[in-house]
Amino acid sequence: MCIAFLIYSDNFVTLHFIMIHRKMEVFEKADLLRTQIDKLKADGMSIGFVPTMGALHQGHLSLIENARKKNDIVVASIFVNPTQFNNPNDLKNYPRDLDKDLKLLEKNNCDVVFTPSVSEIYPDENSKKSEYHFGKIVEVMEGKFRPGHFDGVANVVSRLFKIVQPDNAYFGQKDFQQYILIKILAGKYLSDLNIQVHRCPIIREPDGLAMSSRNVLLSPQQRKSAVLISQTLFWAKDNYQKLSVNELKKAITDKINADNNLKVEYIEFVTDPDLDEVNEWAKDRKIVACIAVQVGKVRLIDNVYFN
Ligand code: AMP
Repeated sequence: MCIAFLIYSDNFVTLHFIMIHRKMEVFEKADLLRTQIDKLKADGMSIGFVPTMGALHQGHLSLIENARKKNDIVVASIFVNPTQFNNPNDLKNYPRDLDKDLKLLEKNNCDVVFTPSVSEIYPDENSKKSEYHFGKIVEVMEGKFRPGHFDGVANVVSRLFKIVQPDNAYFGQKDFQQYILIKILAGKYLSDLNIQVHRCPIIREPDGLAMSSRNVLLSPQQRKSAVLISQTLFWAKDNYQKLSVNELKKAITDKINADNNLKVEYIEFVTDPDLDEVNEWAKDRKIVACIAVQVGKVRLIDNVYFN
């Protein structure tokens, strides 16, 4: 929180600002968190929310920074949501380091952190089922290759939204399809909560690789190879109009698969926000190139806007 005050001395008036940082609070229980948020809201505080699965990096911290600019209180959650993993090994190997995450959040002026257990979010088997329907936007890309993934995402985000009840929530363009889904979730199914969903740009490593919690799982050689994913997407952005849609898909796939450490799972060109498949280069629609690549056992996704 920033407080401004004026000091009058002799014939001068000077304006001073002081930053007051709250001590970061960590909650494991939803009801205790709710009580605290109710108190903060009663004091007129606005709440910005950043849901994460931990193993935090600069991408997550950019969301915290965005939330900080617009809200009095920043709440982050750290919860590795089992229901959105379609692959049990991916869930088992997902990087976790709560102590390090809490230190990072404190250093980045987060006010409140919610670190629930699985049973806190899902008290029984029934609570693990999603009650939402998104139609064709969940039938492509991540939805097609990770069956059940978006049911898990919609369910957990809806549960977190109902607990935190923020004014604003922040998501990364890195998970473009997820952002589109959450926008619909908040606007269509949870409109009574009146949450504004914001999209934040992809934060990349200096060599262009999109930051991801899973990057720490790459071997040094795989990490070197992985840079080809963003490099190829940026090459495609510069050259897309020279080739047909299918030629470009093939060119991207060939360039990436030429590296033995990489295997393209899908490359799709879709419109923002409808996720319609692009069959020819129309100038009047925003086109996003979305890719998923298997790097050994690690699966990475990335996307770039063509126009
Ligand atoms: P995750 O912990 O992977 O579930 O991500 C939590 C949030 O951080 C999601 O909204 C992601 O889209 C966002 N995020 C992850 N990586 C990045 C990145 N490189 N740049 C910006 N946002 C990101």
